[in-house]
Amino acid sequence: MRYLSTRGGDADRSFQDVLLAGLAADGGLYVPARWPALSAADWRALRNQPWAEVAVAVMHPFIGDFLTEAELLAVVEAAAGAFDHAATTPLSQLDDNLWLLELFHGPTLAFKDVAMQVLARLMDIALHRRDARVTIIGATSGDTGSAAIEAFRHSKRADIFILHPHERVSAVQRKQMTTVDAPNVRNIAIEGDFDACQALVKRMFNDRPFRERMNLAGVNSINWARILAQVVYYATSALALGAPDRAIAYTVPTGNFGDIFAGYVARQMGLPIARLVIATNVNDILHRALETGRYETGEVIATTSPSMDIQVSSNFERLLFDALDRDAAALKGLMDNLAQSGGFTLPEAAVDWMRRLFASGRTDESAVLAEIRRTWEETGRLIDPHTAVATAVARAQAGAEAAMVALSTAHPAKFPDAVARATGHHPELPDKVQHIMEAEERFTVLPDDLAAVEAFISANAAIA
Ligand SMILES: *Cc1c(COP(=O)(O)O)cnc(C)c1O
Repeated sequence: MRYLSTRGGDADRSFQDVLLAGLAADGGLYVPARWPALSAADWRALRNQPWAEVAVAVMHPFIGDFLTEAELLAVVEAAAGAFDHAATTPLSQLDDNLWLLELFHGPTLAFKDVAMQVLARLMDIALHRRDARVTIIGATSGDTGSAAIEAFRHSKRADIFILHPHERVSAVQRKQMTTVDAPNVRNIAIEGDFDACQALVKRMFNDRPFRERMNLAGVNSINWARILAQVVYYATSALALGAPDRAIAYTVPTGNFGDIFAGYVARQMGLPIARLVIATNVNDILHRALETGRYETGEVIATTSPSMDIQVSSNFERLLFDALDRDAAALKGLMDNLAQSGGFTLPEAAVDWMRRLFASGRTDESAVLAEIRRTWEETGRLIDPHTAVATAVARAQAGAEAAMVALSTAHPAKFPDAVARATGHHPELPDKVQHIMEAEERFTVLPDDLAAVEAFISANAAIA
């Protein structure tokens, strides 16, 4: 499989190139040159197969000769082994026609573990072949940083530096990062807010001598390999509910559009996905775009579902590319408008095309708490606020033409305050993460200063 950039300035890349680069050289996102599909008979043959076997069938067509099927199987089996549920990403039933796809059984209790566990192993293989090392840098307000640290702590080829805003992340989220004791992991607490952390990371990538000397790499959600790994649980859940002989709909709590885009990929591969519902909190740029055809950024509002508090939804660019019939010049025009004026208007044909598959819904804070409470009262289950955004929107989607699956992206114990406020019950941390509450923390506090952060990274990375 070859890859091209959505903006037309970079093409004919291999999977390995795309895996290591993240962002395309022209600032666009990599997409595969075509969508490979499995036949209905192929899908039927995967029913009742283990998670890792389904993962190989889904991922291998995109990987080309980077790995044999047997090599890929070893990677995804090891990744699945980091999850403490035999089914890796199990389904459970919440209501007559509403299922939860539980994506929180990984080491850091959120769905980002699925893709990170796969990504870290693929990157190690690619770096070993090139006899290269990378320095991974990232900024986090919570879930991404801990998932990346857990995934890369065993890497032989990567040092990882994660910046978080000092005293501005929850204790559980901080401890999930800072209690990891590995020589290639460093936590930096920046005296500033999340935006300051993100700005520092951006400036380090823009500092070309530093970037090249350290061989900087990013692992954020625009990396194609992360999206590819997320296609797997759409396939396992669809098959479990009767695909390819029964239509399935998904409601996805959405921020950067990576998770729901993986659902689109699953459909392109031939799964009968009838509808993909974008569920947003009050940061509703995607919901507005689908309703009005106008994609317009606004202020970010802090909510109880912080992993969806975004202003721009990066991976939406990938869907837009297909919605514009893969016209890279037209796509680039819209992205230039976004950069210059903070928004763009979608061509009518593109909005119509999206509405044939996608729907959307928005949930405000009181509805999120009401949904957590309702689920607790009706089923005795505690759900986290991100999951509640999805189930609230899923319930409002009329029609039972397809089985409805809501993606449950985090364990309730990761967001205990909101859950306790809604239900009066404090969700317990699973045993496997209890130890972090007592374990020794390791992090370095640095000022919001580029030179200081670069000096710290140079002094502590094996590559320097
Ligand atoms: C990252 C995240 C999301 C949003 O996923 P996107 O791929 O950015 O749309 C939803 N829920 C949780 C818990 C997350 O960590």
